[in-house]
Amino acid sequence: MERKINKVKIFTNSSEKTKVVTDKLIKALEEYNFEIVEENYDLAISIGGDGTFLHMLNKANFNEEIYYVGINTGSLGFLQEIDLEKNPDFVERLNNNHYDLEDIYLEEITVTTKDQTINYTALNEMVVRDKKLKVLECIVEVKEELLETFIGDGLLISTNTGSTAYNVSLGGSIISKDLLALSLTPIAPLKNKIYHSLSNPLIVSHKQTIGITPKNKNLVITLDGMNHELEDVIKIEAKIGNKKIKRLKLEDTNFIKIIRDKILGNEKEGRDL
Ligand code: NAP
Repeated sequence: MERKINKVKIFTNSSEKTKVVTDKLIKALEEYNFEIVEENYDLAISIGGDGTFLHMLNKANFNEEIYYVGINTGSLGFLQEIDLEKNPDFVERLNNNHYDLEDIYLEEITVTTKDQTINYTALNEMVVRDKKLKVLECIVEVKEELLETFIGDGLLISTNTGSTAYNVSLGGSIISKDLLALSLTPIAPLKNKIYHSLSNPLIVSHKQTIGITPKNKNLVITLDGMNHELEDVIKIEAKIGNKKIKRLKLEDTNFIKIIRDKILGNEKEGRDL
């Protein structure tokens, strides 16, 4: 059951278009008596590109009690689905509770080092690399079954949501929105007479945990674009668990249409053969 939204926090990037859209939105929110606050908000709105959405989630600490929505003023907008020009009644619909909520499941990561266990969360992906960007060597397990000894630049573990981001640039598959899965995508795997790492991305279901036991002990892991340096790493585990965020939507979006529009750049319904 949707709850009444009263308090709103706005996250923005620094583009000129964002400034114009933000001013317009604040005016409309004030007209409907929404409170614009810095803390204890019901709804977080990001205005900008997908990077702004990721920044917002990080600042909100992936709080599961909050609703999230993105207004696109950036270039892509996979996560930022609302276009205020196409949805001029956005604030009115917020006021009337006339919206849908979509659960987006997150990647849960546990890092065990010599001294501690650290838990992280990511929406898009985790990238594991050597701290000094030397070749990474590690044992990879899926559901505790040995897959391989990987040698290469690094490993990326993407969620279905993140599959259209860095993953796709590395040749990973785009994973349908309604398919809860992780993609284990290699970054420049070594493949020669001596070393033979899997060069294809491997997609595993949300019921499986991917384990990485590195030979290099000092690593940098990048979560949704943010670097975390780690010393004396023993093991890294990644899975889709129960953690999720609620994204507010105005309409059902067709995933194939999004790929056609935003990756292929063909907004038309089709083209003549
Ligand atoms: P960033 O500048 O915030 O983002 C880099 C690009 O990735 C931007 O074009 C961004 O779109 C797009 N993006 C982010 N999430 C996406 C998603 N779920 N689906 C499709 N495109 C998405 O870079 P950052 O701060 O380093 O890292 C943020 C994210 O960028 C990472 O999570 C990673 O997936 C991605 N990234 C991609 C590459 C690559 O493709 N070679 C390299 C590094 C990072 P907007 O322009 O709309 O913000």
